[in-house]
Amino acid sequence: MDSINAIIYLNLDQDKFVNNFWFPFDFPEDIIKLIAKKCYSIISEDENFIPNVLLIFPLPSLKLKALVKYFVRDNKISEAYSSKSAIVYLFDEKDDNIYYRYMSYLDPYFQDIIKTILRMEREQAEKEKIFEEIVKLQSTLFNLSKYLKTKSEYITKDEISKDITIDIDSVLKRKFKVVVLGDPSVGKTSTILRFTDNVFLRAYIPTMGLNITQKIFKVNNFAVELVIWDIGGQAKFELIRRQFYEALNAFILLFDLTNPKSFATIPKWFYDLRNFNEFDPKLPGYLIGNKLDLINKLIIKRQDALNMANKLGLDYFEISALTGYNIENAFQDLALKLLQ
Ligand code: GDP
Ligand code: MG
Repeated sequence: MDSINAIIYLNLDQDKFVNNFWFPFDFPEDIIKLIAKKCYSIISEDENFIPNVLLIFPLPSLKLKALVKYFVRDNKISEAYSSKSAIVYLFDEKDDNIYYRYMSYLDPYFQDIIKTILRMEREQAEKEKIFEEIVKLQSTLFNLSKYLKTKSEYITKDEISKDITIDIDSVLKRKFKVVVLGDPSVGKTSTILRFTDNVFLRAYIPTMGLNITQKIFKVNNFAVELVIWDIGGQAKFELIRRQFYEALNAFILLFDLTNPKSFATIPKWFYDLRNFNEFDPKLPGYLIGNKLDLINKLIIKRQDALNMANKLGLDYFEISALTGYNIENAFQDLALKLLQ
């Protein structure tokens, strides 16, 4: 367990692999290299881009995920440090719900270590002293996640599915692929998390690549398994689009009720999907307006959204991923349609 939860301090200016530090020391170097490459690739395309929120990257081949916090130095302090760096903490992918749920809680620990690192560098502290701080953070994060795990009434996905399959063993279980499309930051990831785990994330985590979430739930006497695909609105989208649109059973077009642009691009998302050669026009589709809780900022009128839904042959729901309002209803409705 301890050895999975490695912490890594990376220099990311070039695709080089020097002056990096990790703990435990015996953590395989080839894995560190792989992670360094991945962290570098995300910021390499744009000189000026550096995510300032805590991110989670999947490392599926290792069954691990990584919490990653990038940081920059304004001016170079010494040859030993590059101007872009990252602190990475690895964990077992099975525990990711804990990390997603407590992300905003964990972020300050990363902010603190970065402040400490930058201060110590300015004061020209010995490298070993800096590394000691990083080792301390590793043990803090390790203990914290252990604590959060026992503290929360969190049940693993395995336990949930076990429960339900015992219960409805005799009835049919059906599995459906649902894709969620829409502009960046309309709340796709938040909505899915709210539905699958009843949590809400306040920190914005631009979805890196593809997120696939499964939820088994009961509709009438059926157990329905929804496999929900969420995609980042990133440039890399083109590459995985095919996989994304393939063999789907239902789709959701999500927009932000406070953001007219996200509403205006709905037809673009719709036609993009419809022009995919295997698209079946009979598929259930939903138009969903999110962020209904922002009552003073709502711009898109219900009637306009209904008109758009009618035109595109979709059902319309208004939800809030923040409060959870109407999310269960929307997915129940979707599941019922899928069963028909
Ligand atoms: P995605 O890019 O479409 O996956 O969007 P996210 O789920 O990452 O959400 C983007 C931002 O909107 C985050 O800061 C969320 O906390 C926020 N957000 C998402 N849903 C809601 C909502 O229903 N109400 C409010 N007030 N904020 C939301
Ligand atoms: Mg997202």
